[in-house]
Amino acid sequence: MSHVFLFDIDGTLLDSGHAGQGAMEEALRIEFGVEEIDCDIPFAGRTDRGIVTDLLIGHGLKSTNEQFTKFQQRYFTLLPKHLNKRGGCVLPGVRQLLELLSARLPACSREHVGLLTGNFEQSGWMKVQHFNLEHHFSFGAFGDQHRDRDDVARDAAIFLKQKGISDRDTVWIIGDTPADVQCARAIGASVLAVASGIYSREDLEPSKPDALVDDFEDPDHILSILFR
Ligand SMILES: [Mg+2]
Repeated sequence: MSHVFLFDIDGTLLDSGHAGQGAMEEALRIEFGVEEIDCDIPFAGRTDRGIVTDLLIGHGLKSTNEQFTKFQQRYFTLLPKHLNKRGGCVLPGVRQLLELLSARLPACSREHVGLLTGNFEQSGWMKVQHFNLEHHFSFGAFGDQHRDRDDVARDAAIFLKQKGISDRDTVWIIGDTPADVQCARAIGASVLAVASGIYSREDLEPSKPDALVDDFEDPDHILSILFR
C-alpha cells in the first residue's frame, strides 16, 4: 500500500506574512486604480481564482478572462517583493517533518509528496521556492481554474489515479482550514488538520478531521499519525 501526502501551503507549511494578500492589493491598485480594499473578502482556505474573482466584482470591476489575466500577471510580478519585505517564515517543525517523511518513504514513493493549495500554480511554487521547500514536492494541484477547493482536490485525485494510486492506497491531505478538511472528504482522503493558521483547534474540531494537531513541533508524533 502506498501513502500519498498533499500539503496545503499558507498556514500549514509557512506563514508568508500576508505577502500574497499584500501583492494582490497592490496589483488591484496598479492595474485597476483601487486605492483601498473596501470589501470584506476572506482569503484563508479559498482558491486564488475565487479570491480574485470576488476582489474584482467587489470593486465594481468585470471578472472577464482578460481582466483576470491582467491582474494575475501583475500579481506574479509583485509577489517576490512582498515575500522579501514581509518577513514570513517556515512554520515550526515543517522542515524536519518533510525531511523525516522523505526518509520514511521508499525511494519509489518519493514522488508521493505533493501540494494541494488554493494558490495559483505559479505563485504557489514561488512561495515554496522562496522558503527553500520546493525540493520536497514533486507535483501539485492549484487554484487557477476553480473557485471551489473541492474541485482542486478532484484534480489531485485524477492526477493520482493516472499515476496508479488506487482506493487501497492512503491519501492524506494536510491543511489548516475547515476547507482543507472538506476538500479531503470530496475525494475520500484522510485529513490531518493543523491549528497553525488563523483557525484554532476549537475552530477546526467541528469539521471533524481524522486527526487534529496544534502544530508540527513534534514531527515524530505527526509521522506516527500519518503512518498509523
Ligand atoms: Mg492554508
